[in-house]
Amino acid sequence: MKTLYVDLSPQRVLIAGRLLGPAAKLVPRLRNQAYFGRFAPLQEEDIPSPPLPGPNFVRMRNRLSAICGSDLHFVMAEGNLSIAPAALPGTTGRNYMGHEIVGDIIEVGPEVTKVKVGDRVAQHSGDDTCLARGLQTPCRQCAIGNYNLCEWEAPRDLPHSVGGGWSEEWVTVEGRLYPLPDDITDEQAVLIEPAGSGVRAALRHRPSPGDKVLVLGCGTQGLMTLQSLRAVQPDCEITALARFDYQADMARRLGARHIIMLGTDAYRQVADLTGGRLYKGFMGNRHIMGGFDAVYDCVGLPRTLRDALRWTRNRGTVVLVGVYLAPMHIDLTPVFYHEVNLIGVLAHGAEDWEGERLSTFDLIVRWLREGKLNFDGFITHRFALSQYREALMAAIDQPRSHSIKVVFDMRDQAPEGR
Ligand SMILES: [Zn+2]
Ligand SMILES: [Zn+2]
Repeated sequence: MKTLYVDLSPQRVLIAGRLLGPAAKLVPRLRNQAYFGRFAPLQEEDIPSPPLPGPNFVRMRNRLSAICGSDLHFVMAEGNLSIAPAALPGTTGRNYMGHEIVGDIIEVGPEVTKVKVGDRVAQHSGDDTCLARGLQTPCRQCAIGNYNLCEWEAPRDLPHSVGGGWSEEWVTVEGRLYPLPDDITDEQAVLIEPAGSGVRAALRHRPSPGDKVLVLGCGTQGLMTLQSLRAVQPDCEITALARFDYQADMARRLGARHIIMLGTDAYRQVADLTGGRLYKGFMGNRHIMGGFDAVYDCVGLPRTLRDALRWTRNRGTVVLVGVYLAPMHIDLTPVFYHEVNLIGVLAHGAEDWEGERLSTFDLIVRWLREGKLNFDGFITHRFALSQYREALMAAIDQPRSHSIKVVFDMRDQAPEGR
């Protein structure tokens, strides 16, 4: 089976992160070598289908698998070994790529009880969580459904998944899989996982009626957050900050009232839209007094988080949705000087909605059925797995490709009748 993985051994992270990645940013023709060459983090291999490594493992054949913005940080060697999660076990070494997946179960181990051969499933949890391993006494986070925040320390000798979304086939524990209802299409199913952080962001901080909120960034995460905000609070005024016209069009279609285009005078527009006052200090230092009630930073770069904190009113909230895998050097004074709340979001787990606690995935399926979420138009590019270089470049080079979500379509390889 063909599979793609990222080699996160310290030597390679250092070579790729210090030399190749930064060089390719400055000189675009080095990209091919930096992202797909011999010393790149991403590696391809063709291995014999492995036997099921444990009695509660299953074999999957993928239908669709998507490229996530967070995957690109690994491919482009933007990770940094000094961030907190890098201290945890299991974060270095071989990392199979692709976590936005829909596929079919083609083989089950003797102790598998929750799924069966022929089931169509998505992936929700990682390998080493209480949920994935079916622990009788889960940690306090898994006990309330937040497998994304699992605090369990997995024994070192546990058998692990082989392969992932960017593989034709893979083997994994049954507890990682989410059985899909028949009325959800493959295209919707592959977008449930990336919708998760948007739904979670809107529920982590629910706007009040009449609030003015900003969604910073109109990639998949921004657009998912935007429609989730509409779902939790139809009576809020959403502004979206977009980098490209095609993103702005999509944001308008999904309910953004105002658009700020990157590259225009955003500080001026934020002040005008919120009735805030724009102040200019020394050396181009600017701040807004009285900005948005909440800003959802769906980009997560130091630059965007810095602006998000300055564009939020006193005692307002910034929700950090975007992923950045290196330490940041930014001005955090708004957090105390203006008592701005800074909170974060990781993927998906369980949510509280209308007096009920349910998994983020269940809530997304419900909202799709109710028309609160609409995934039409998100998948802009499809590639065969063998075209992974083109696929990744379509995801990276948005000015040229106009991509939102790029997927690997492996359905031709599926056996007849599936
Ligand atoms: Zn993702
Ligand atoms: Zn746990």
